[in-house]
Parts: sequence; C-alpha cells; structure tokens
Amino acid sequence: MQPISEIHIYDAPETIGLDIDQVAAYLTELLPSVTITPHTDYFTHQLARFTPEQIDQVSDQLVARLAEREISDTDDSDIGTVYDAPRLQEVMRPLLPEDQRGPDHLHIVFLTHCIARQSTDEAEYRLRIQQQGVPLLISTTGFVEALELPREYIFRRAQLEALGAEDQIEELEDDLAARILTYVDPRVTEVAKGYALQAVLGHFLGEAGCESPDCRMFKARTHEELTRAQFSAGTGLCERHARLLDEFTEDAES
Ligand SMILES: [Zn+2]
Repeated sequence: MQPISEIHIYDAPETIGLDIDQVAAYLTELLPSVTITPHTDYFTHQLARFTPEQIDQVSDQLVARLAEREISDTDDSDIGTVYDAPRLQEVMRPLLPEDQRGPDHLHIVFLTHCIARQSTDEAEYRLRIQQQGVPLLISTTGFVEALELPREYIFRRAQLEALGAEDQIEELEDDLAARILTYVDPRVTEVAKGYALQAVLGHFLGEAGCESPDCRMFKARTHEELTRAQFSAGTGLCERHARLLDEFTEDAES
C-alpha cells in the first residue's frame, strides 16, 4: 500500500449539479483518518501561487499547449472539446507544487471536457470517464457520453426513425432520460462519489474495479450498468470492498 498524505479534489465548475464538497464528505466518511481537501478548478487553484505577471506568461503557454492536445477526429461534434487524456496530464502535471507530486498525494481532477485515449490495438480514440495517473482525471461529460446506450433503445429508435414517428421518438427519449444519467442531472454528484472512490482504491490499493454490478467500484460500460452501480436502491460496496476499505482505514490510522 502507498503511504497517504492527502487527497485533493478539484471542481469542474461548469458541470451543473456537481457538488465536490459532497464528494469530499463522502470520502471523509469512508476514510476518516485521511485529509481530503476540495479545491476550485485545477488551473485556477494551481495558478493562484503565481504572480500576475507569471500567470500572464504561463496562461498564454497553457492555452497554446492545451490547443495542441485537442483531438479533432472524433465522430461526434456535439460534445465540445475532446482532449487526449495522457497528453492533457502532461500539461497539467508541471503545475503541481514539488512536494505534492509523490504517490502519497492523490490529485483527483473533475473536468467537464471530454477526454479520450487511444488503445494500443485501436487506431481510433475512444471517450473515457477516467484517466489514471498524475493528476487523475474524471470527465463528467464522460458519464453521459462514454457509455453505451441501452440496446433496446437504439433498436427502437432506429425503428421509429425509419417510420418517421417524431412524437414517439420524443417519448422514447423522455422515457430513457428517466432511466439513465443525462446532462444537468443532480445525480451527477452520486456518480462522482463512486468514481472518486474508484480513484482512491485504484491509486492506493491497485484495485481495478469490481465484478459485482451493484458495487460502486464496478467499471460500467453501459448507462444501465452505471445506474445500477452508482444510484440504484441496491448501490453500495460489495463485501470484499467494504472489508478492504476497513483495512485501508486502519492502516491509514496507524
Ligand atoms: Zn466491489
């Protein structure tokens, strides 16, 4: 296990409904002996250490470097800017104070922007929810866009489109919106709690998810899986992860 000094959580102020104070309170409840600090958004927080002149200089460089990390060849144009996740981390990492770069500090950065990553066996980019590393990135737009929609919905929508049944398509979308996470959804904070916990146990214990679909550590691939793991009635931690968390808390205390 890695030693723990502090967990930092950075806000994505543009994500409507996201309350990182609640996310920090949730982690504090689970890990009472660990210092968990919520901050404003990553760039604002880190740049606050610099003088106005330095900020002017650094900001220009940052804007240029960030633009280089934008990906233009994603299919969907409605989702705003998409960043290459590992390269975005390269731009963000040098802004961390020297004494917070070690593995004893975990920096969890929530972002409204989309992040994508190329798999070694895939030529194209795929949207991601989370990118491990320093800092660790969680895209809230990814909660909505990086997951597969229910198959039954895709099938039904294609049928209705073929028939030109506009009203029924709207009805179908309303029905779907009630069952999955959408934009401007207050449940985004519940999902953020689950992904922050995944970040913590991933970073300090090397836990890469869970097999139980009701566990908050479950790595969802579809909207239905996300709903079930993060905000259904049966949501919680599986027995193994509850036990691991207890042991982790005891170790952190000693
Ligand atoms: Zn589990």
